[in-house]
Amino acid sequence: VNDQDLKRRAELIRALPDGVVRAAVPEDTEDQRGRRGLPPLLVTAPRNTEEVAAVVRACEQAGVPVIPRGGGTGLVLGQIAIDGPPPVLISLERMTAIRAVHTGDNVLIAEAGAILADVQQAAKDVNRLFPLSLAAEGSCRIGGNLATNAGGLNVLRYGTARDLCLGLEAVLPDGEIWHGLRRLRKDNTGYDLRNLLIGSEGTLAIITAAALRLFPRPAHTGTALFVVPSPDAAMDFLNLARDMVGDFISAFELIDATGQHLLAETMPDLRLPFPEIPDWCILVELGTPELLPTEPLFESLFKRALDAGLTDNGIIAQNGAQASQLWRMRESIPEANRLTGGIAFHDISLPVSLVSEFLTSSETALRKIADVRIGVFGHLGDGNLHYNVFPAIGRRSADYGDIGGMISRSVHDSVHRFGGSFSAEHGVGRMKAAELKLYADPTRLKALTAIKNALDPSGIMNPGAVLHDNRTGIHDSCKEQG
Ligand SMILES: Cc1cc2nc3c(=O)[nH]c(=O)nc-3n(C[C@H](O)[C@H](O)[C@H](O)COP(=O)(O)OP(=O)(O)OC[C@H]3O[C@@H](n4cnc5c(N)ncnc54)[C@H](O)[C@@H]3O)c2cc1C
Repeated sequence: VNDQDLKRRAELIRALPDGVVRAAVPEDTEDQRGRRGLPPLLVTAPRNTEEVAAVVRACEQAGVPVIPRGGGTGLVLGQIAIDGPPPVLISLERMTAIRAVHTGDNVLIAEAGAILADVQQAAKDVNRLFPLSLAAEGSCRIGGNLATNAGGLNVLRYGTARDLCLGLEAVLPDGEIWHGLRRLRKDNTGYDLRNLLIGSEGTLAIITAAALRLFPRPAHTGTALFVVPSPDAAMDFLNLARDMVGDFISAFELIDATGQHLLAETMPDLRLPFPEIPDWCILVELGTPELLPTEPLFESLFKRALDAGLTDNGIIAQNGAQASQLWRMRESIPEANRLTGGIAFHDISLPVSLVSEFLTSSETALRKIADVRIGVFGHLGDGNLHYNVFPAIGRRSADYGDIGGMISRSVHDSVHRFGGSFSAEHGVGRMKAAELKLYADPTRLKALTAIKNALDPSGIMNPGAVLHDNRTGIHDSCKEQG
């Protein structure tokens, strides 16, 4: 921060409502993987929507960029400045109220700073389910979830954050407030501003509150882990399960041998479910209504899958503790990956039917670049894989020099060839802005740029995120975790 910045900061503070500015802390400019951004000009924590609007207006007039911030759990550097003039951070941390719960409409209105786990609890308090669920749910905030259109574990059944939102309240880049907290399932009245802002990663507006959909709580939840011979068999298993239990499947996760080996190597205290590590397994969760306990469904499913040669071993959790143990294995994989240290990490999606073919093709391409270990896990039911590349056994990532970029390019090229996406659920942020430019359809890119310029002509909203031509050197996809 130079003298000119200090002067700008003093002017801005004078223009802002009292008590909105708070001291910066190191976490404001760090993400959960320890990546650090530039220090901000100021950190603000407005108490209500009008204060958010006042901060945005003041910044717009001063020509100072703003970065909205939720829980800071984003994995693609959307919430952190890495170049350009120092921004004003607008943290939603003080706007955490559940404003209303409309049980008749099955809608809950939450402020953008509400922690996801608190929104889930508020739904539970009225015997409803808010199904968005991800490992960061104890710290991410609903505004951040919507801004990144977060996915997570229950997309297969309930959809992404986009599908769970009926209305928004937001502050646009000129400081105007959009009052769009509608509770309607149907509203065909022109362009869909709500869906434009969802997934826009803070580049078009600041979300201040949301009307969220609630669902009946499943009376029974059951979890099982099955060994499958291949990803193809896992897909056939999913189709069989769909035929047998339809929409009661709430999660369907693929886990490969590498993930389990890395758990064994980095977390020896964690008990792995099978004494011999299988090549592939699937973690399945069912959520059923009162009259349909999950255990008989799992038993029938296992028998049919066994007869069809889709599995030869499995564990059906007999109680909540066993279910948590199975989930702990799945949810510890990102940490095991981090402890291992990877060469490149990817959050990709593919047409579900092409997952297996992609895995073979991408591995062949990678083997031509280096001798590596490939780890695959993820939300197979959504065609979403965390596809991670590690050093071969006995080597360290430092031994591979700077080939992370080349590896990511190879993986993303394969994904593109198979009609997939280089960012399934984490967004674009600053880390993947170059990929967006490279892989996006040019007509779409032109339309996205026109929308950005129309809504944010001064370019103050999270500049450098999503649409950015001149990224500075942080090629850091190797640090992404799923
Ligand atoms: C352990 C772990 C597990 C994860 N698992 C998943 C997963 O399964 N699925 C998944 O999709 N993601 C996952 N993520 C990524 C991350 O949790 C999500 O992207 C989350 O939705 C971000 O929310 P946040 O509040 O932390 O947002 P932040 O990190 O604070 O911000 C993310 C982006 O949203 C913008 N933003 C934040 N708040 C607002 C607002 N109110 N208005 C406008 N823009 C805003 C920011 O500017 C930034 O661009 C995981 C992350 C971690 C660390």
